[in-house]
Amino acid sequence: MSEYKAELLIPDEENQSFRNELATVTEEGKRRWIYPKKPSGRFYNARNIISAILLLILVVTPFIKINNRPLMLFDFLNRKFILFGIYFGPHDFHLFVIAMIATIVFIILFTAIFGRVFCGWACPQTIFMEMVFRKIEYWIEGNARDQIKLNTQPMNANKFSKKFIKHLVFFGIAFFISNIFLAYIIGMDELIKIITDRPSEHVQGLIAITIFSGVFYFIFSSFREQVCTIVCPYGRLQGVLLDRDSIVIAYDNVRGEPRGKIIKDEDQSHLGDCIDCYQCVVVCPTGIDIRNGIQLECVNCTACIDACDDIMDKIKKPRGLIRYASTNSIEKKTKWTLTPRAISYSLLLTVLLGVLTFLLLNRSDFSINVLRTPGLLFQEQPDDIVSNIYDLNIVNKSFDEIPIALRLENIQGELKLIGKEIIMKPQEIVDAKFLVLLSKNELLKMNTPIDIGIYNKDKLITKITTSFLAPMRKKAEK
Ligand code: SF4
Ligand code: SF4
Repeated sequence: MSEYKAELLIPDEENQSFRNELATVTEEGKRRWIYPKKPSGRFYNARNIISAILLLILVVTPFIKINNRPLMLFDFLNRKFILFGIYFGPHDFHLFVIAMIATIVFIILFTAIFGRVFCGWACPQTIFMEMVFRKIEYWIEGNARDQIKLNTQPMNANKFSKKFIKHLVFFGIAFFISNIFLAYIIGMDELIKIITDRPSEHVQGLIAITIFSGVFYFIFSSFREQVCTIVCPYGRLQGVLLDRDSIVIAYDNVRGEPRGKIIKDEDQSHLGDCIDCYQCVVVCPTGIDIRNGIQLECVNCTACIDACDDIMDKIKKPRGLIRYASTNSIEKKTKWTLTPRAISYSLLLTVLLGVLTFLLLNRSDFSINVLRTPGLLFQEQPDDIVSNIYDLNIVNKSFDEIPIALRLENIQGELKLIGKEIIMKPQEIVDAKFLVLLSKNELLKMNTPIDIGIYNKDKLITKITTSFLAPMRKKAEK
């Protein structure tokens, strides 16, 4: 029993309240493997349902198409992004920046109010680790105690077969996740080509799948909770994002302390409700004791709430010794209210979302720029004609092929496209040059504003006003 307690990170008798070391690191700086007991209870059941729904959404999304295009695509290599069927490219960088700022403000606001609820309920790392890989481990190797027993015994046929099957299944799932992950980057059609074509035709794609599979396998079979406690920047930021009004998973020390084990026939009326059973510690996947207070390792998985509620039921005390609560609500018994910090973040977020919505609603299918070619003023042509040369840049953000035509709108003259006619492919960026030729009789000033209509066949897309330069006219000519 004592060895089991040590493996499960139960602090020794003199050191029950505060930890001064990382739960997953030994005094010598070595990794301490966590063997969390399988959780059960109402929160775990609810997380099972939500995780199943989120996993289904994650897996199905790359297969969904709207008008034959993906619902979601994050093609970082070609800087093409499709969100809910709408194409975004490098020209939408301003939208990306505003969306990123809004996301950061949302995360700060959400965390200030609800703590790390995202980590426990929606983070892919927690869902895959606790709801997929950990369940398989319990299924093959048994609960925490059986796993410790298996790991401490010498290699034999039983241990080898269990380990072999577990790692084979782990790698299979990591391979599946890497395929789904890649489908979000290159699209399901490309992924199916990689799977069905000859391997030699998609060497790069196969290398990517192999690397992703290896990384996912390493994370879920070995690195595990270290992602949350060491790598994840969101976890590391908790110290500045949380305050005493944030709702976190907390131990009610006012009700629970002084803690003490139940001893038969002894007056324990001076003790709090915590019976020091360590059930909240042995279920913790990051190996911490929530009774020591809020800790950055806590991923809000709710396992300790279920474990403690179960104990409270058994000793006939009210549930909720560990629960979702703010520090102030526990210590000062105050009801939760919106703090000035939360109100200011909410206002800022509302403004940012308002700007983003306005820009999205007014976003056109084209981004068009016309500039007089830098470094060139004008060219004098025969028959009193003056020409200016212009650079045209068009981005077709739509999914249609579009023939582009240019026309002079507000002045008599000629517009000549240099090169072949423009037929834009979906999401193509085209750079072209064109000449505008005007008669000197039309030009009363050195700088004449001209309107250029950009057409999709005969349908006006937009009108752009630019300047036309001409030589200064002598007084007599005017
Ligand atoms: S302290 Fe509780 S909620 Fe936090 S990680 Fe451990 S078991 Fe999960
Ligand atoms: S499970 Fe509840 S009663 Fe048991 S040690 Fe944890 S807080 Fe105390």
